[in-house]
Amino acid sequence: MVGRLFDMFRGTQTATDPVCGMDVDTKNPPGGTFDYQGTTYYFCGKGCRLEFEEDAEGYLSGRKKMEM
Ligand SMILES: [Zn+2]
Repeated sequence: MVGRLFDMFRGTQTATDPVCGMDVDTKNPPGGTFDYQGTTYYFCGKGCRLEFEEDAEGYLSGRKKMEM
């Protein structure tokens, strides 16, 4: 637990989940990763990754947004 706190203070690397916009820890992405056109994307959960795999172009272009 203490090590985890220190990681936060050191500035853990995060990336933005392209589907829902959440910050995801790149060292341990809960939803795994997906490479698309030379870029690695990180996901908060498996559901987001599957959504992105289905229509990566849609999410990257902003055409598609997760609807609440
Ligand atoms: Zn997500």
